[in-house]
Amino acid sequence: MDKLYDLIKRSNKIVFFGGAGTSTESGIPDFRSADGLYFSDYEHYRPEEILSHEFLMTNTKMFFKYITEHLIYPDALPNRAHETLVQLEQDGKLLAIITQNIDGLHQKAGSKKVIELHGSVYHNYCINCGQFYSLEEVLARETEDKPIPICDKCGSFIRPDVVLYGESLKNSVIAETKRVLEEADLLIAGGTSLTVYPAAAFIHFYRGDKLVIINKTDTPFNDEAVLVINKAIGDVLDYTKF
Ligand code: NAD
Ligand code: ZN
Repeated sequence: MDKLYDLIKRSNKIVFFGGAGTSTESGIPDFRSADGLYFSDYEHYRPEEILSHEFLMTNTKMFFKYITEHLIYPDALPNRAHETLVQLEQDGKLLAIITQNIDGLHQKAGSKKVIELHGSVYHNYCINCGQFYSLEEVLARETEDKPIPICDKCGSFIRPDVVLYGESLKNSVIAETKRVLEEADLLIAGGTSLTVYPAAAFIHFYRGDKLVIINKTDTPFNDEAVLVINKAIGDVLDYTKF
């Protein structure tokens, strides 16, 4: 952690690349930890089956029940990892946060430059007329008996603006990710298994030689890192605070 402290001290264009592990300390389960969503059985479906475009279109009711129960946490609060990143940005040392998360916690903490690779549950739109809905408006339209949120304008259903399995990332988001990673002098990947593609491959847009990985378990990118810290990200980032 002292090594990380020194690296942060010497860097002014830090990019943080995060995933679900960044939010577990806020009480939001990830996918691949022992108590993550991959190991919870939901009517015999695996999360990547449910969280797919095909499932949304063919098994819409169960899709909405699942995301409301397992992926939407309107009351979750940012943790020390989110807070340290806000501080780094305010100190002018952090260029951007690139996150695979859809929980909006970086913005809730106060971070300004956040690239959401997989979208956000806070943005929703009608699949027919495109009308925008906030998360609050969506939740107000869902009940236990009728879990599918319906558009007031056209009667079709409202979906979250998140990238499901079988859907593509937005080109503008990829371009911005590439731009900030090419400019970065230090890349910290944290709380991510680095196994979800294409997101994980974006690490290679970084041209520097200072990749740091903070993750409780090993990742396929460990050999490329100058430093790997297998500890809780809240503790680690909090330790590096100036
Ligand atoms: P993942 O579940 O594949 O991996 C999370 C990693 O974080 C694991 O390797 C785990 O060991 C590690 N981890 C967990 N808690 C940690 C902590 N406190 N400190 C350090 N490491 C910790 O998650 P992923 O790589 O982000 O990929 C999963 C996909 O699921 C993403 O695309 C993401 O969009 C989505 N997802 C998002 C959320 C969210 O928005 N909070 C939650 C679940 C899944
Ligand atoms: Zn509509």
